[in-house]
Amino acid sequence: MSFASLGLIDQITRTLVSLSYTSPTAVQSQAIPAVLAGRDVMAAAQTGTGKTAAFALPLLQRLALEGAQAPSNGARSLVLVPTRELAEQVHDSVKAYGAGLPLRTMVAYGGVSINPQMMRLRKGVDVLVATPGRLLDLQRQNAVRFDAVQALVLDEADRMLDLGFARDLDKLFALLPKRRQTLLFSATFSDPIRAMAAKLLDDPVGIEA
Ligand code: AMP
Repeated sequence: MSFASLGLIDQITRTLVSLSYTSPTAVQSQAIPAVLAGRDVMAAAQTGTGKTAAFALPLLQRLALEGAQAPSNGARSLVLVPTRELAEQVHDSVKAYGAGLPLRTMVAYGGVSINPQMMRLRKGVDVLVATPGRLLDLQRQNAVRFDAVQALVLDEADRMLDLGFARDLDKLFALLPKRRQTLLFSATFSDPIRAMAAKLLDDPVGIEA
């Protein structure tokens, strides 16, 4: 199986060649066509399975092909992660996978000054990788708007709940457009994760890595 046969465009498959990714992993071969088709996804995937590329590659492609501009202070997609380390790591991957695509990406997490993040958001972003608490802080300060959000990714959803982000997540979900694509990735599927999935996902494609 090749990345091109999953529906990825040349610009992205060339990037994958340069990264020496020769063939998709199991989670990638299942998730990429589903996400490109606009479906919601519920994926059981541990770290190390290639889950980041599984959501990031098709997400970047959809945003690039649409060609729309992010509005001022607006985010076109959100990737929510539990920790600053994962935020940095996912953002680095998103930048690498999106090399050469005309997309703006950004990472925002707590424990560092909020002002540079507010400044960077002014022009709008295509992909905003963020921890839930800081994203809510930015929203409260009117530094980010969600009306143009067309895709939401929850990465390591179980860890976000373990770290006590349930309330912040609920507040964020209430602020997002109802019409959007949602991708939920979690290593485990506890009852609270299943409840979250039932609330957020519309007829999801279920994926086991
Ligand atoms: P992740 O599960 O997203 O944290 O990815 C785990 C590691 O696998 C990262 O170092 C990726 O760069 C790498 N990786 C992801 N997909 C592929 C692939 N299709 N071929 C080779 N390496 C990959």
